[in-house]
Amino acid sequence: MSDPSFEADPEGLRQALEALLAPPSTEGAQPLPGVLPEEGYGEPAVLDRLSPIVLGGARRLGAPDALAHMDPPTPWIAWAMSVWNASLNQNLLHPDVAPVARDLEARVVDWLAPAFGMDGGHMTPGSTLANLTALWAARELKGVRRVIASDAAHLSVAKSAHILALDYRAAATDESGRLDAGALPDDLSSTALVLTAGTTSAGAIDDLALAGRAAWTHVDAAWAGPLRFSRRYAARLDGIEQADSVAVSAHKWLFQPKESGLIFFRDNRAAEAAISFGGAYLAVPNVGVLGSHGAVAVPLLATLMAWGRAGLEARIDRTMEIADGLWQRLGAHLKAELYGPQVSGVVLWRPNDGRSAQSVRDALPAGLASLIQVGGKDWLRHVAANPNADIDTIWGSIAGVL
Ligand SMILES: *Cc1c(COP(=O)(O)O)cnc(C)c1O
Repeated sequence: MSDPSFEADPEGLRQALEALLAPPSTEGAQPLPGVLPEEGYGEPAVLDRLSPIVLGGARRLGAPDALAHMDPPTPWIAWAMSVWNASLNQNLLHPDVAPVARDLEARVVDWLAPAFGMDGGHMTPGSTLANLTALWAARELKGVRRVIASDAAHLSVAKSAHILALDYRAAATDESGRLDAGALPDDLSSTALVLTAGTTSAGAIDDLALAGRAAWTHVDAAWAGPLRFSRRYAARLDGIEQADSVAVSAHKWLFQPKESGLIFFRDNRAAEAAISFGGAYLAVPNVGVLGSHGAVAVPLLATLMAWGRAGLEARIDRTMEIADGLWQRLGAHLKAELYGPQVSGVVLWRPNDGRSAQSVRDALPAGLASLIQVGGKDWLRHVAANPNADIDTIWGSIAGVL
C-alpha cells in the first residue's frame, strides 16, 4: 500500500492554496511545540497551525510601501514552479535523476550570459557562493594570491578570500561610494580585482572600465546586474564584458524565490575544468562548490519565458522610476540630505534638521526603509526591488514624518 503523504492530495493542496490566497492574518496563531512532537498532527492540522504563523507573520514584499531591502516580491509563475520542483526533488548532481533539469539550467544560463559578455556558467544559491566560486577559479587559473575590492564591497568577498586563504585588501571609495582607482596598487599581476556593480549599502557602480587591469577581474553584480536587460540602463554596466567572471543574485532584481543566483565566466570551459571534481559515484564531474543542487533554474526559466526580455525590462524600469521619483521628492525637500547619485535603484537620505536617521525610521511603517552606515553617518535606505511599490503611498508616509 502506498503512503498517502507522498501522493498528490488535491484536497490538501487546495487547502494550502486557499490559505495562501486568503488575506494574511495572525489570528488563531498558537505557540509551536518546544520539542519534536512524538505523534504527528497530520497534514490538514499543520496547514491550519502554520498559516497564521508562516503566512500571517511574514513581511509582504509586494506591499505598496515595501521598499527597504534587496528582497523582491516573486511572480506567481515562480511559486507554481517551486511547487513542481518540491514535488519532483531533482538533483542536478546526477543526470539520471535530473534528465531534463540539467538542460533547463544550461538553457537559462545561455539566455542570460551574453548580456554580460560571458560564455557560460552555472546557478548557485546566491552571490555569496557565486563570489566564492569566481575567486576559487581565479586562484586555480591565474594563481592569484590577493583579492582587492573597495571598502563598500559585500562581506562575502572578504569571506571568500578568507576561505581560499588569499590576502584581502579593501581599497578606498570616493564620495559617491565607488572604488577610488587611485587607491589601487600599480602591480595587479597576482591580484583578483573585485568590482561591485550596485553596492549593497548605496547601489554605487564601480568604474567597470577597470576590468582587465588585474590578473583576474570579477564583477559582483549581485544587485545591479539585471540592469543589463533594460535598454535604458544597460550602459551603466558597460565594461562588464571585459571581466573574467560575473555574479548575479536572481533572488534580488530577477524577482526569484530564494535561493537563486548565477556565476558566469567569460571562458566557462576553462573555469569549469578548474573547479570540477570527479568521484566514484558521479557519472559527470561535480562543478563548483555545491554537491546536491536543485532545479532552481526552473522558476527563473519560467519567469523569463512568461515575461520575455521586454517584460523583465518593464519591471526593472518601473522600479527605477519609483527610485527616481523618491529621489526627486527628497531632493526638493528642505529637511532631507541625499547621498551620492541614484544609479541602481538604491536611495540613501538622512534628515538634516538634527533628528537621527534612526528616529525617523522608527516613525515610518515597517518595511519602508532600512538603516545603514556609510561614511560614518547613519542613513535611511530604500531599495526599489518592488514593482508594486506606490510612490504616492510611500511619499505620503515620508512627508508625514519629515
Ligand atoms: C546581496 C549581495 C551579495 C550576496 O548575495 P546573496 O545572494 O545574498 O548571497 C553580494 N554582493 C552584493 C553587492 C550584494 O548586494
